[in-house]
Amino acid sequence: MNPESYRMVDFLNQAVTRGTHVLHHTPEWLRLRPGLFHSVSFIFLSVLLTVSCDTQPTASDQNGTGNGNGDDDPAYSHTRNPGMSAIDFLRNDDFTEVLVEIQYMPGYRPADSGLDELQAFLQDHLDKADVIIAEPEEVPSGGQEQYSANDVRQLEEEHRRHFTEGSTLASYNLFVDGSYTDGNVLGIAYYNTSNAYFGATIHDISGSPPLNPSREKVEGTVLRHEYGHLLGLVDNGVEMQEHHQENGPHCTDEGCVMYHAVNTTDFFANMFDDSISDLDEYCLQDIHAVQE
Ligand SMILES: [Zn+2]
Ligand SMILES: [Zn+2]
Repeated sequence: MNPESYRMVDFLNQAVTRGTHVLHHTPEWLRLRPGLFHSVSFIFLSVLLTVSCDTQPTASDQNGTGNGNGDDDPAYSHTRNPGMSAIDFLRNDDFTEVLVEIQYMPGYRPADSGLDELQAFLQDHLDKADVIIAEPEEVPSGGQEQYSANDVRQLEEEHRRHFTEGSTLASYNLFVDGSYTDGNVLGIAYYNTSNAYFGATIHDISGSPPLNPSREKVEGTVLRHEYGHLLGLVDNGVEMQEHHQENGPHCTDEGCVMYHAVNTTDFFANMFDDSISDLDEYCLQDIHAVQE
């Protein structure tokens, strides 16, 4: 085993261990119900194809500020918890178009093919006439080795350019040049329309197949997974039709992009399959229930 693959295995073991640890200490999650989750402060850790992720509810519901343009219009609030805009994403009543803004720190521009995977995913699952992925834009380095959820919220406030307006629902994605304050995490959903990705960690675990999964594949998978949280999965904005939730708002099906954890063997099996995971039947059933 070369040093690179050894490091990956170590990363996996660490991730799985921590995921269990966090779940053990957050049993209150299991008692959450839709409508209450926004008032409860919780943290959980998930592991997806070694792709760990975390959704980060705000401690208190902040409203509408942070667009930096000083307008006093009671604009669509983009500082609510992940899952709170699920219906706005999934249905077309109020918004017929979704705009995906991508910003990145120097050296961490996401690959086009990963963005294509996200676009295909959103076009498949959202009831929208259009899904537009804006040209990725570079922003200055934040100058940190690690970024917390609050750090990325602050960075969004400084840099985000596109906001929900008219019939266009805007969402935001920031690729930072460091790791998460908990180093296993590759991405977090931290507001109702916002995700962040930890470029240093993504680059660290990706490489050249077959020894390492390609960066394109890791990015495509994490992008889809975090958007799954914005769409209210699992039971975190859209109601679960049949029980399939485990380890926070994640899916029990290991073939689903919303799956929470995987062991080393599964990691290799999954990551070198040609396709990037999508939603399984359980998750599809949940989103179709609100799209009828
Ligand atoms: Zn997750
Ligand atoms: Zn699922």
